[in-house]
Formats: sequence, C-alpha cells, structure tokens
Amino acid sequence: MNAVGDFSDAEIEAGRRLFAGDWTFLSAASSIASLPRAGGLEVAFAGRSNVGKSSLINALTGRRALARTSNTPGRTQELIFFGGPDRLVLVDLPGYGYAAAAKSKVTAWTRLIHDYLHGRSALARVYLLIDARHGLKTADEAILDTLGRAAVSHEIVLTKCDQVSEAELAERSESVTAAMRKRPAAFPDLIATSARTGAGIAQLRAAIGRLLHERA
Ligand code: GDP
Repeated sequence: MNAVGDFSDAEIEAGRRLFAGDWTFLSAASSIASLPRAGGLEVAFAGRSNVGKSSLINALTGRRALARTSNTPGRTQELIFFGGPDRLVLVDLPGYGYAAAAKSKVTAWTRLIHDYLHGRSALARVYLLIDARHGLKTADEAILDTLGRAAVSHEIVLTKCDQVSEAELAERSESVTAAMRKRPAAFPDLIATSARTGAGIAQLRAAIGRLLHERA
C-alpha cells in the first residue's frame, strides 16, 4: 500500500476530495450565547496571533480569502464557523498571546474559549498551530492545559515550515513531540505545514478526513 506520511494514498485522495468541495462562511460568535447550534463534526484551529491560522485555513480549503489574513494581531475576538461538505465545520478560534491586548480582552477571550471547549460534543479535534520557527511558548502551554482539562482531543500543527531549515524542523518537531507526550489528551504526532509551499496540507486534509470517517 502506498502512503504519504501516516496516510494511505486512498486517505490522501479522500482528504483532497473533501476539501475540494464548497466552503462557506456560516457564522461568527463573540459570546457563548451566540454560538451556532452544533450540526455536523467540528474541527477547530487555535494558535497565537500571527501564527498563520487564516493562511492555513485558506490553504486547506483552497480558497484565497475564506479566512481573513491580517497583519494586525489580536484583531479578531470571535469564533468563526466555516461549513464544508459532509457536514464538516471548521472553527477558527481567535488568536491569543497578543502582548498589547487589554487585560479585560484577554479575560473575555479565555472565558469564550473555555466555554466553547467544554461541552461541545460536536468538536472532534483542536489543531493547535505552532510557528515552526518558535516552538511552544508560555501562552501555548496555557491553552494546552485548558485543552487537557477539557479532555478535548488535540494535536500540534507546525506552520511556516518553509522558514526553517530541515535540521531545524527536525529538532523543533522532536522537542514539541517530547513535550506533547506528557499530555494524555494530546496526539504526540504532529503535522508540519507551510501555507506558502503547500507542504503538509494534503496530510492535514487526510487527517481531518480520517476523523470524519471515524465519527461517521
Ligand atoms: P493568523 O493571524 O494566525 O491568522 O496569521 P495569518 O494567516 O494572517 O498570517 C500571518 C503572517 O504570516 C502573514 O504575513 C502571512 O503571510 C504569513 N504566513 C502565513 N503562513 C505562512 C507560511 O506558511 N509561510 C510563510 N513564510 N509565511 C506565512
């Protein structure tokens, strides 16, 4: 059987087909009261501001501007829901770790994320995006703690892998994997991506396709 990373050719193809479908903006929620009713399966993306989250969502869905990319970190304080084929919903969680954000904003952010992560049975996985150049930071550890406490399945996705050498990427992957092994709700595997070159995008699509398949 042929394979790409951990995925068979059939899974890579299924992932490609899944994301080649239509993707649309469903809704935005800035409070727990405005969360949409959970329909299908949700897969959420979290990460520090500027980690490349919007770019990754756009690369996954093959859309140039489904998620709004921005050079203004900390701007979006909303959960954004995108609907795709097979009732798959991608959830763009607001970025965190923006140093200049007011304390009240940080508190509001923490509460919203916390409320969303707890008791959202449609949520199959959170992908936590980590910049391949920087590795895990304190703010990432805090959300990892929250994910662990909520017992939400989660996995690391490295972003901007085009910005590091192969040796650096291997080293970073190893240290992040070692840190994740200590967290029981976390998948120790990670997926290395670049929205710029497209590296790892097929694997991430296949991983999400596999989740959908497992939950079907
Ligand atoms: P967000 O704040 O997490 O949504 O991040 P964005 O997607 O808006 O990206 C932040 C910045 O990183 C932008 O200048 C992007 O062009 C850049 N960026 C995003 N993904 C990549 C990538 O894979 N490679 C490189 N080199 N730059 C990227």
